[in-house]
Amino acid sequence: MDYNERRMMEFVSCNLCNSNSTKPLMNINGFHIVKCRNCGLAYVNPRLKPVSLHKIYNKNYYKNPAFNGAKSSLWGYIEYLQEKDFIVATFKKRLDQIENYLKGGKLLDVGCAYGFFLELAKKNGWQVQGMEISEAAYRYAKNKLKLPVLNNALEEAKFKNESFDVVTLFDVIEHLPNPNATIKEIRRILKPNGLLVITTPDIGSLSAKILGRNWEEVKRVREHIYFFSKSTLKSMLELNNFKVLRTESAGRYFSVDSAIKRGKIYNKKIFGFIEKLSDILNLSNKRIYVNPFYKMTMYARKI
Ligand SMILES: [Zn+2]
Repeated sequence: MDYNERRMMEFVSCNLCNSNSTKPLMNINGFHIVKCRNCGLAYVNPRLKPVSLHKIYNKNYYKNPAFNGAKSSLWGYIEYLQEKDFIVATFKKRLDQIENYLKGGKLLDVGCAYGFFLELAKKNGWQVQGMEISEAAYRYAKNKLKLPVLNNALEEAKFKNESFDVVTLFDVIEHLPNPNATIKEIRRILKPNGLLVITTPDIGSLSAKILGRNWEEVKRVREHIYFFSKSTLKSMLELNNFKVLRTESAGRYFSVDSAIKRGKIYNKKIFGFIEKLSDILNLSNKRIYVNPFYKMTMYARKI
């Protein structure tokens, strides 16, 4: 954290129960992750003000050149566009789950990135809408993929009441300055019995507990400001009149190459060795499904 950032910090109370009583969980590069003593929600406090939080989602966010040697906190993606096939394969699994509840209708993807999920859903007959605050990603989704996407935050879009059958938030809620307000807004724009699907890191998972401060998700304190567990996310959904239908652990497909790059965040030596092996065996573009059991997907219905 530098001097300018320190001046841009703000204290916030618990987004789930409004309490100000916290205990420290960990300190990552000067950012404090605390846990609410009342409800258990974990969050960064103090944190960068939303205006400077937004700065991270610039054109480098989905192609972060500093990813490999990042000494400070981690953020962004290695190379999102090149990973398209793997990302789409991951999304296909989630869309299949959604279609177990609902076969089609109007779907809103909040934080849709380059629009890969929307593109897939559209092919499957859904009427789609996306929101994306990163301008480069928004332009790609709009101009290249010709998808209806808006370049702002959900609350700014002012959709009509009961507009959508499904709203998805994939790897998004942990970035939001006020997740409770966003869930409330989603409830307003969902049709009766509408489905909300959230994927986010699970700080209550065994893997997260074992990895502690080495967990990739907490190293991203520059962008991740809330760390939910199954129980805190369920509480926030129930508080806003949602019924949780199902929770599953969320893995994803990687190329061997990018799985190794991620592995190097944890152990340079071991994954450096695996990298050499995979080069020799010519495996780097092969597809593998990785599930470290530290992310969850929650499906909830508006009641
Ligand atoms: Zn709380």
